[in-house]
Amino acid sequence: MAYEIDQSKCIQCGDCAESCPVEAILEEDGKYTIDADACLSCGVCAGTCPQEAISEE
Ligand code: SF4
Ligand code: SF4
Repeated sequence: MAYEIDQSKCIQCGDCAESCPVEAILEEDGKYTIDADACLSCGVCAGTCPQEAISEE
């Protein structure tokens, strides 16, 4: 299972992308998404997000 970003909560701060050890979080036009194929489900990003916008799906 991979982690996902709830876009309704995300404020596009970018902290999660910087925290990911495998650079699985991508930003395009200000929208952050997690590449499910690259994600290791380590949970680091979820702990970093100030909005609690990231959870395991
Ligand atoms: S759970 Fe880990 S590997 Fe997956 S996107 Fe978050 S920090 Fe990256
Ligand atoms: S850390 Fe949270 S609020 Fe910031 S870009 Fe990532 S998902 Fe969005």
